Amino acid sequence: MKFDPAAKLQQSINLSAYDGVNPAISDSATFAFSRAELMSDTFEGKTEGCFLYSRHWNPTNQVLSSCLAAMEGTEAGWVTGSGMAAITSAILQICNSGDHIISSITTYGGTYAFLKNWLPKYKIETTFVDITDLKAVEQAIQPNTRMIFTETLTNPLLQVSDISELTKISKKNGLKLVVDNTFTPMIFSPHLLGADVVVYSLTKFINGKNDCVAGAICSSDEFLDSLIDVHSGTAMLLGPVLDTMRSSSIRKNLFTLHIRMKKHSENAMYLAKKMKEKGLKVKYPGLPDHPQHKTFKKMMNKDYGFGGILTLDMETTENAGKLMTAMQDDGVGYLAVSLGYFKTLFSNSGTSTSSEVPIETQKEMGLSPGLVRMSIGLDQDIELTWNKIKNCLNKS
Ligand SMILES: *Cc1c(COP(=O)(O)O)cnc(C)c1O
Repeated sequence: MKFDPAAKLQQSINLSAYDGVNPAISDSATFAFSRAELMSDTFEGKTEGCFLYSRHWNPTNQVLSSCLAAMEGTEAGWVTGSGMAAITSAILQICNSGDHIISSITTYGGTYAFLKNWLPKYKIETTFVDITDLKAVEQAIQPNTRMIFTETLTNPLLQVSDISELTKISKKNGLKLVVDNTFTPMIFSPHLLGADVVVYSLTKFINGKNDCVAGAICSSDEFLDSLIDVHSGTAMLLGPVLDTMRSSSIRKNLFTLHIRMKKHSENAMYLAKKMKEKGLKVKYPGLPDHPQHKTFKKMMNKDYGFGGILTLDMETTENAGKLMTAMQDDGVGYLAVSLGYFKTLFSNSGTSTSSEVPIETQKEMGLSPGLVRMSIGLDQDIELTWNKIKNCLNKS
């Protein structure tokens, strides 16, 4: 039987534990202990299920985290105040000063900047590679390499990482494989393909409402325990905890994710095909001519499609700008960064979410200055949307 993340998520709810259909929101920073010994035992990590202080654990975040763990097929999860908090905490928990990281060169701009500009302060160096070139990945391994970092579907070039193959390389060399699955929740289950740690920006598809910033780390119990260890855990000590009000609200949105992912994928596929027919430079992993279409199909869970993100290469920043302005004026969506919203969002990657990447590197990795990344919304009448886009293309 194939793994179905939505079914697993739904099976993870245990109603009898709650008074209402949604669990009560924990409104406390600290928690009382019945006996003094219980408090000291908790500090020593000897107690199970005791809440100590909300930065460490709280009932609301624990509920959301266990939902995410069920969906990912991991033993554990921990939610954070942003996607960057999840990424940086996971990396800093794994790597020590003097370690080396191999990363996909196409990643979220913030991740790239963290690896490239921030980590060297602590003598952690990163080699950036084309993650679809497995030979290049192997060749980049050094004696001090600790981890491979990638995104299942990379931002903004939409390359597909072969998680099973990267797992083989990382296992053979004693490395940790950390995967950012933000673009493709439910579509891919990176842990079940072998990844050690899966990170998310919940801000995007998972929450889907653009009303908050949040993140998550899904992993083994052992990794999670180390992450929130009172004495040495990165998440516990850097403190990127998610507020419980937000946590509760994200959990409610999580239970419609499967329906939304299907619709995002259906609409993106429709537009990608139309753009292709029109001879436009469109990239979408659901199109058979996408270089990693087969890899995507090999790894995907059934039913959720090829995702909601496509890119359209308008060749110059000016053309991209004209198209995006016209599309916003005509109600196709919003000229805004971020993705996974119910309305279509578009931005010019090179001058926005990848602007942390130097122009020379952008060229090297094949990022066109005119690349428009589109996160396709939940439009009911996608044919009408296509007609609007065609009009905008004629104008620009
Ligand atoms: C947005 C994004 C992040 C960062 O998440 P925040 O919630 O904004 O901190 C990381 N990775 C990817 C792929 C993203 O799209």
